[in-house]
Amino acid sequence: MDTIITRFPPSPTGFLHVGGARTALFNWLYARHMNGRFILRIEDTDTERSTQASVDAIFEALEWLGIDWDEGPYFQSKRFDIYIEYIQKLIDSGNAYYCTCSPEKLEEMRKVAMATGKKPKYDGTCREKGLKNPDNAVVRIKAPLIGTTVVHDVIKGDIVFQNTELDDFVLRRSDGTPTYNLAVVIDDITMSINTIIRGDDHVNNTPKQIMIYNALGASLPSFGHVPMVLGGDRTRLSKRHGAMSVTEYRDMGYLPDAFINYIVRLGWSYGDQEFFTREELIEKFSLENIGRSAGIFDIDKLLALNADHIKMTQPAKMIKHLAPFLNKLGFETQEGPFIEGVIKTLNARSKTLKEMAESAAFYFQDTVSYDKDATAKFFTSDSLKLMKMLIESLESAQLFDEKSLENVFMKIMEATGLKLGKIAQPVRLALTGKTASPGIFEIINVLGKEKSLDRLKQAVSFIEEKMS
Ligand code: GLU
Repeated sequence: MDTIITRFPPSPTGFLHVGGARTALFNWLYARHMNGRFILRIEDTDTERSTQASVDAIFEALEWLGIDWDEGPYFQSKRFDIYIEYIQKLIDSGNAYYCTCSPEKLEEMRKVAMATGKKPKYDGTCREKGLKNPDNAVVRIKAPLIGTTVVHDVIKGDIVFQNTELDDFVLRRSDGTPTYNLAVVIDDITMSINTIIRGDDHVNNTPKQIMIYNALGASLPSFGHVPMVLGGDRTRLSKRHGAMSVTEYRDMGYLPDAFINYIVRLGWSYGDQEFFTREELIEKFSLENIGRSAGIFDIDKLLALNADHIKMTQPAKMIKHLAPFLNKLGFETQEGPFIEGVIKTLNARSKTLKEMAESAAFYFQDTVSYDKDATAKFFTSDSLKLMKMLIESLESAQLFDEKSLENVFMKIMEATGLKLGKIAQPVRLALTGKTASPGIFEIINVLGKEKSLDRLKQAVSFIEEKMS
């Protein structure tokens, strides 16, 4: 079997959005699953709308998603010579021709068609004229006049187009620039693309593209058109439904693996499995399991999946994703057991990395600022005694693992007759400033002896001052 070669060809006219990311992902996963190749091509022939900022934004989003490419990026704007060469081939072989019909004439044709309830089509005025490269001419394909053009879609099945519905569409504009359909096909042929997965908003381009393949005698790739992603109200996903840009999800604190897991499920399934690691997706992805109905974007599902991925990701692998959020709060991070420990205490209780960074803040602060209501409730004369006992025990403790800490607390429970719940709340407040946090043994273990004692002593001073 030939090597599978797929591509992602975004037009750089904005950021990478959810739908585009899913298209990129499907092509990438299929190439990786099949040990094939994945090519990145920037379709920047529309010079008015294409920007370098969009190109950069697309690279940035793909990098975050972990979608890497084996070839490219190619830029269509640098390939005009190739398109011109192929247009010439089509003219020379009698499959394309020059047309000098004026815009006014074309507008007239359109009006007549509309008035008679017909689809606007070029009427073939120049088709048999044999014009030889006149000034200001466009180049049109000589499309078949009868019969059908069938798209054998790997997702939707056969889609039949009547050739009478199609016309001699333009391949090259009068300013010499190639049209979208021409450039795409020439690229796909010359880049040996054999599998094209794209949004079904492109379905009507496909018969035209097939005509160009046929005119060049090139073999057809497999086509698969994926239904659009919809919002909760079942209209096409747009800004109205929330964030559209992939990097906005990064900035909200989603893990890339959670994000790809979620968007792959907006159109592909594997039984009723919801959670997939990246490796599992590569192993299990197939075109057969792409569905025919539109996926509906549901932020709550994405959030739940993100929480699952945060829980399942090894702390060491999470550092690089969490670090920007901590840095934003003004905390420096370094790889190592401390930050891994911090993550371990929070990964089962954070839905996003942003939330995790906020919950982790107390680990990094030099002085803890206490929740006001909580100090009234928990920083009492009883807790002062308790805190002092704890300081004494911790000062002499050799081991700070959770088991040893549990023993320290057991002894205090025995000595005071208090339940752990009663002891834990003031200690938690002393260590974190808050009334909700990970377990106190875990926290003491991560903070270490010096910092934990320092915080307990700060609380003692606070209570003593309050009492005096
Ligand atoms: N450049 C097109 C787009 O961004 C993709 C064309 C294609 O997949 O053939 O929609």
